[in-house]
Amino acid sequence: MTPINFKFQWLNDNGQPKGFLSKKGVLDDSLLKLDDTDIPVVVILEAEVRNNYLILSVLGEDEQPMSFAIQTSSAQQLKDELGRLRSAAWAEAHREDLEQKGLGHTFHQANCPECSSVVNLTGKQSTPQISCGFCDTLSTVNPPNHPEVEVAVGSDRGYRLCDECGMYSKPRRFTIFYFYFLLVVYGWRSSQTWRCPGCMRGEAWKMLAGNSIFVLGVPVALVQLFRSYGGTDVGGPFPGLDNANLKARKGDLEGAIAAYREILKHRPVSAGVKYNIGLALLEQNRTNDAAKIFESALNDCANYRPAAMALAHCYNNLGETDKLKALEQVWGADEQDDAESPQSPETEGADIVES
Ligand SMILES: [Zn+2]
Ligand SMILES: [Zn+2]
Repeated sequence: MTPINFKFQWLNDNGQPKGFLSKKGVLDDSLLKLDDTDIPVVVILEAEVRNNYLILSVLGEDEQPMSFAIQTSSAQQLKDELGRLRSAAWAEAHREDLEQKGLGHTFHQANCPECSSVVNLTGKQSTPQISCGFCDTLSTVNPPNHPEVEVAVGSDRGYRLCDECGMYSKPRRFTIFYFYFLLVVYGWRSSQTWRCPGCMRGEAWKMLAGNSIFVLGVPVALVQLFRSYGGTDVGGPFPGLDNANLKARKGDLEGAIAAYREILKHRPVSAGVKYNIGLALLEQNRTNDAAKIFESALNDCANYRPAAMALAHCYNNLGETDKLKALEQVWGADEQDDAESPQSPETEGADIVES
């Protein structure tokens, strides 16, 4: 690849740039160079983007993960490229490892249609969908035969778990705008947040109420309100998803489940929507039913981690030790490949049970 040159600023713990001058950064095939700090691409465990912030979690010299953030206009490009580079390197290392053990034939991978990262599927059954941990997208790659409904092949772009409510939805950037008026001095505060439209609605109404005396803030509040009600899922792959999520959040779980099932009639293969149903059932303490729907989510997408973690939680509560063991084995096999880089298999197993 052609190295990517970019300018960046380090951020302190409060998310403020440190110093005034931009530093130089370069990303090539194997190294991310930030000023005079060299970070091998393979030790970058996580990369997240919010606006022009790139948040990285890196395995340090003492083998402990550490996180830091930089501000750069190339944040998204760097995240995408890092996903491609890391995923390819990790998959290759895993394949070599398996080959040494004489298990090379079990290696199984797919390319994410959304970001081209390599998704390692070794040990997982083959399912219609794959989940990419590098861009958080579920994609339908092997549509099953559903005579009554046509299953679209491709990625559900932009749909992921919301930062705020944790539900499968389409989070977007919203501006929270409050207008302050202090005697003759006035100022405004604006901050940005990533949440799904359902989560934004309450905030938008609050904004409108808080701003209505000061006309300046009103148009912003109205725009946010419009965005959180209008649009997102109209004509999208999951019409009604925001409403169903909102019902679930308000505690109308029966209504939410009915609305989710309606969506599934048109989109029978969707690990994300089934995950939301599972969450609603868990909320009603219907752990047995929740386990069934999480199982079904994994039948749609064998490597969908949120569903696997939730299912492990159910099995744990139901005392289904055999099923829990089997599930951990499928995911444990996957974790071992990363053992050279991220967490040890034991930590990862514990993590599955807890969540
Ligand atoms: Zn991807
Ligand atoms: Zn949300």
